[in-house]
Amino acid sequence: MKRRRFISNTICGSLAFSFAPFSMFSLSQDIDPNELIGKGSPELVGTEIKFRKEVYDAYFSMREDAKKAGILITAVSAYRSFERQKQIWERKYNRYLSQGLQPRDSIKKIIEYSTIPGTSRHHWGTDIDIVDGYHMDVPHLLAPSNFNEGKPFYKLGQWLGQHATEYGFYRTYTEDPLRKGFKPEPWHYSYKPLSVKFLENFLKIDLLKVLKAENFQGSDHFTPTWIETYRNEHILDINPELLP
Ligand SMILES: [Zn+2]
Repeated sequence: MKRRRFISNTICGSLAFSFAPFSMFSLSQDIDPNELIGKGSPELVGTEIKFRKEVYDAYFSMREDAKKAGILITAVSAYRSFERQKQIWERKYNRYLSQGLQPRDSIKKIIEYSTIPGTSRHHWGTDIDIVDGYHMDVPHLLAPSNFNEGKPFYKLGQWLGQHATEYGFYRTYTEDPLRKGFKPEPWHYSYKPLSVKFLENFLKIDLLKVLKAENFQGSDHFTPTWIETYRNEHILDINPELLP
């Protein structure tokens, strides 16, 4: 999608779909606030896995080049809606509660790898989870150990480390031992030419207000301090290349 068209589409979208916590939203911003939390209607391409066109084009080009190195770059997740993230969240929340964890501990465990609905970078359609399609028989595709030396996705991880940025993709949750927030995710890459702008806009949201308005399971345990820590560690403590 051409940038100008993207801007006009998203501004129209924000007028058509009003959302109370964003009453301070001004048209000078160019991203529909609903799209920041997975509740918009972005223009997407793809069937099972859906992408923004610009992200898909870059992904496709990267995939074609990686094929020459014997790797079949395959996205197993790209755009994800608020509702989908809510399903993931509530499924894990209930599973951990049934295992005897207290609500706070259950939430703490979920956010090792999964986001609070409304806060996933997958909502933006800019981030993708990648595996090697030549090794789809791995029992748990998105396990960090699959990318270790001698394991099925090692070659993929090495190739991405060397070449992904040439296509605009940056690893979001790096191995930096000082980094807080989400655990390292060798499969999660972000399309920087779009995602930096999305993050910049996302940071203007009153996150606690938005999440409280949604009222999903576990959301009554969010406090201002807890959300502030989540924002600083899980949203902002990422690859510095992806910060606005
Ligand atoms: Zn991901």
